[in-house]
Amino acid sequence: MTALLDLLRRRIAVDGPLTVAQYMAEALGHPRHGYYVKQDPLGAAGDFTTAPEISQVFGELIGLWCADLWQRMGTPDPVLLVELGPGRGTLMQDALRAIGRAAPGFRAALRLHLVETSPALRAAQATRLADAAWLDRLADLAEGPAVVVANEFFDALPIRQWQRGAKGWHERLVGWDEETCRLHWELSARADPGLALIPEAVRDAPEGSIAEACPAGLSHAALLGRRLAQQGGAALIVDYGPARSAPGDSLQAVRRHAFADPLEAPGDADLTAHVDFQSLAQAASQAGAIAHGPVTQGAFLETLGLRPRAAQLQKASPARAAEIDAAVARLAGPQQMGTLFKALALTAPGLGTPAGFP
Ligand code: SAH
Repeated sequence: MTALLDLLRRRIAVDGPLTVAQYMAEALGHPRHGYYVKQDPLGAAGDFTTAPEISQVFGELIGLWCADLWQRMGTPDPVLLVELGPGRGTLMQDALRAIGRAAPGFRAALRLHLVETSPALRAAQATRLADAAWLDRLADLAEGPAVVVANEFFDALPIRQWQRGAKGWHERLVGWDEETCRLHWELSARADPGLALIPEAVRDAPEGSIAEACPAGLSHAALLGRRLAQQGGAALIVDYGPARSAPGDSLQAVRRHAFADPLEAPGDADLTAHVDFQSLAQAASQAGAIAHGPVTQGAFLETLGLRPRAAQLQKASPARAAEIDAAVARLAGPQQMGTLFKALALTAPGLGTPAGFP
């Protein structure tokens, strides 16, 4: 039994079964045994690959998007450039290179802040982003106008789940089975008071349906919405999930590029859930920001110039032409990341419609 599994077993013996959110928080963020705390999970040798690791064009286009927003904001100097969950720092490294070329004024004005809890990933980020400041939480960010980027950050935030029974919604819980010595699923005996958290569009789903909510995601969206409205700026959220709230169990574990049982190896597999873009947009709008989209990642990147930039790179290094074509197809192809992944923008009122959004 791994150390984390043993800790969870003892905690359940004392406190009873965990909510999915408590389980996810421990599996991903336990200060010693959490998945993101222990290792760098990204890339071919790790457990999963993300868009910035597939092609430099992803980060470059996002950098240019940020520069355009800075122009729309009236070129504030200084301005905060913030990334939530920067992974290896690849996206921001590519973004800063593109910004340096296309918008040197923005490059000089920006103060880079990275919100990251993982010591292993902070170390990887520091090798690529020398002039950054690190924060544990978005709430600790200094005041001022800000451009915020988050790629595959919200999918890692803990979700809660409920299952519809005859008498209402019962919370899905993680318990311990003494006989098999394994974690297992349970349902709360009583229908739950968490109903307000369940997205409106899902509340009347039929018996047997699963509903999900991400309280940490909603509070991040509300915090962003409030600060963008009051202090100026914009945020770009790229992640995977449906454009509209929908019922269904989207909790998934990935280990060495393959799906795994989410309860099998806490701390050793990545756990994520679909991002509910409709609920995030609603939380940010209620806090005063304007939400744009979501649009599909494919459409977003195509509009920003994915193909011309890829062609430019192919011209510069013809030997890599096929590899670059494959990366473009992976980022924008409808069967790959192009449709499942979405981009949502949040802006202060008065900035107009950002590039890439209809
Ligand atoms: N954006 C990167 C990495 C995505 S993986 C990329 O696209 O490659 C998720 C990232 O979010 C990791 O850097 C992880 O350490 C970070 N993260 C997860 N939960 C977090 C939390 N609650 N607070 C801050 N960072 C978190």
